[in-house]
Amino acid sequence: DTLLTIRDLKIEGRQGDRWQPIIKGVNLELKRGEVLGLIGESGAGKSTLGLAAMGYTRDGTRISGGSVLFDGLDLLSLSERRRRRLRGKRIAYVAQSAAANFNPAHRLIDQTVEAPAAIHRMMGRSAAEQEAIELYAALRLPNPDEIGFRYPHQVSGGQLQRAMTAMAMACKPDLIIFDEPTTALDVTTQIEVLSAIRTAVQEIGTAAIYITHDLAVVAQMADRIKILLRGDEVEEQETRAMLAAPKEEYSRSLWAVRSFT
Ligand code: ADP
Repeated sequence: DTLLTIRDLKIEGRQGDRWQPIIKGVNLELKRGEVLGLIGESGAGKSTLGLAAMGYTRDGTRISGGSVLFDGLDLLSLSERRRRRLRGKRIAYVAQSAAANFNPAHRLIDQTVEAPAAIHRMMGRSAAEQEAIELYAALRLPNPDEIGFRYPHQVSGGQLQRAMTAMAMACKPDLIIFDEPTTALDVTTQIEVLSAIRTAVQEIGTAAIYITHDLAVVAQMADRIKILLRGDEVEEQETRAMLAAPKEEYSRSLWAVRSFT
């Protein structure tokens, strides 16, 4: 049951007065409920590809070929308005800096229920709050009944990160793009947040693209791993097979260092 199909996608970025290739004909397929880990060194094109999976291109970049099909919808030819609607409801995005995504003046739970309450208009406020609390619990936030009633500055970075993931999941999207959501955390918290995210993604049945430059992270998170190098796909395999026997020289070099930036 395929949710997302990216075919021969090509993206260029403006450099001075010239367009240079960023993504050089990448293919990607994601089934419902599946987690694909996207790895590669900095500048490989991971974020660009992750945004394109939602039909977005950054300023200064353009699509020069290929297609992005989400549940049968051609995202690259959707109107901006329809794409934005899809984005709240069926596709969510969780980026690195959690704090930037929260309004410091509003309690966490208000921000967590705001989106689904607007989306699922029929859902009452208390039902939405109850769901948010269940998500906090699934993400192993301490005192899930209480923590939502704090303001963003009253919780730790790792907790805020999980609250942000809860916010993304509250809409029960079909797809979540995680763009290095744990790089800012210390190692212990990172491990905690990762396993919480993994569990919650499985419980909700959301498909995910998990972008990271850290092999240990992707090993823990993903069903399959795709490796990018300078806008090209190096290889893609099921996680266990990839960890046991990377086919390409470049992948083996990554495995040798275990982590890279
Ligand atoms: P990664 O996420 O793997 O670190 P990015 O997708 O952010 O890589 O960037 C890939 C390449 O695209 C980089 O070489 C970067 O310089 C270029 N790039 C990214 N954003 C833009 C932009 N808005 N305009 C022009 N070039 C860009």
